[in-house]
Amino acid sequence: EVDGGERGVHAFLHVNTEEALAVAREVDSIRAAGGDDAPALHPLAGVPIAIKDLIVTVGQPTTAGSRILEGWHSPYDATVIKKIRAAKLPILGKTNLDEFAMGSSTEHSAFGPTRNPWDLDRIPGGSGGGSAAAVAAFEAPLALGTDTGGSIRQPGAVTGTVGVKPTYGAVSRYGAIAMASSLDQIGPVSRTVLDSALLQELVGGHDPFDSTSLADPFDTLVAAAKSGAGSGLEGLRIGVVQELGGEGYQAGVENRFHEALELLKGAGAQIVEVSCPNFKYALGAYYLIMPSEVSSNLAKFDGVRYGLRVLPQDGPMTIERVMAATRAAGFGDEAKRRIILGTYALSAGYYDAYYGSAQKVRTLIQRDFDAAFAQADVLISPTAPTTAFRLGEKLDDPLAMYLNDVATIPANLAGVPGLSLPGGLADEDGLPVGIQLLAPAREDARLYRVGAALE
Ligand code: GLN
Repeated sequence: EVDGGERGVHAFLHVNTEEALAVAREVDSIRAAGGDDAPALHPLAGVPIAIKDLIVTVGQPTTAGSRILEGWHSPYDATVIKKIRAAKLPILGKTNLDEFAMGSSTEHSAFGPTRNPWDLDRIPGGSGGGSAAAVAAFEAPLALGTDTGGSIRQPGAVTGTVGVKPTYGAVSRYGAIAMASSLDQIGPVSRTVLDSALLQELVGGHDPFDSTSLADPFDTLVAAAKSGAGSGLEGLRIGVVQELGGEGYQAGVENRFHEALELLKGAGAQIVEVSCPNFKYALGAYYLIMPSEVSSNLAKFDGVRYGLRVLPQDGPMTIERVMAATRAAGFGDEAKRRIILGTYALSAGYYDAYYGSAQKVRTLIQRDFDAAFAQADVLISPTAPTTAFRLGEKLDDPLAMYLNDVATIPANLAGVPGLSLPGGLADEDGLPVGIQLLAPAREDARLYRVGAALE
């Protein structure tokens, strides 16, 4: 069942049954054969995985949640997909998302929304609502997402799953359709912290095909998660970010958050308060930088190179008019809104006032992080200010939708890693609350250690 199916959750846009079964059978037969010369299997071999449909795959469609890619098939696999195939994880299919990963609810998908398995009237977060819902509904034990401003962590929070945005450059972006290239990161979605560590370690590491890929191997994540589970946190300083809480945060979210702090204290960690005064400008800077990059990245969908081509109904058949007709029909409202915003912000005469200022704010936010990490080893906050809202509730109010990303966006602007893990259910609505941990760039292992200790 695919269309609006999966008992109403609609996490998948495409299900890849035959290929997934073939891989599962291959792993079974390798295991059954056993013996000393049997090929060594990766610990995740045979574990099925769902892939956000922004990541390109050979043999299955890739839609980015948009009509504009209609009929397009990728001629190559993303680097993360190559690694997943080599480790023999059966790929279950491609999951739903907001068009080109723009949104916080998965309602901006051209193929209909995904629903939250905890309550089908609620959103599963976004943009990676499909990956999070697939894991939360026990359709898949693992998934991949992409996180530009929170699209792995916020869906994780509102569906009670674990979601990680690695350090910028820790996982190759080769084959992730670009939304905002300086912010995008691929990362894992799972039910446990250890599972995410296994998946990030598998798909991460240096890739010559991504010029922003770091040289670091990121090969101590699994060991960190294992060492953290059930262990003490003596000597660890955990910084509570003053600006990510209080006004605008739901009471039930704050209650679970304070409970998490008590648990960490009980495990021996020292809780300190840190202040990041420039975080209040993060949302504003993000909604200038991100659309600027979007307007540039989405320029390639011109009706010639990829997917959909719409010919003008009347008048002259010029390239400009084919492009305009294709883009008018192929892009949804949110994509158009951001392309227009970005084009405006980058135009001559406005560049310094908007894009230039936003880049300066970005530097200030990085400095806030540096100062905070001088006082604490790990920072902590609620992942999202509220639990899952109702479908339709924020659809006509883009600003209200954007506000849901207030706690996740700073990490993307600074390139630091963030992990969201379940923190229990909010008292007032019984819905999952997410706890976010943040670490300095390249210190992803620290997140897995503390995450596993808190789990
Ligand atoms: N919700 C944010 C946005 O709409 C983040 C999206 C993302 O991380 N891909 O831009």
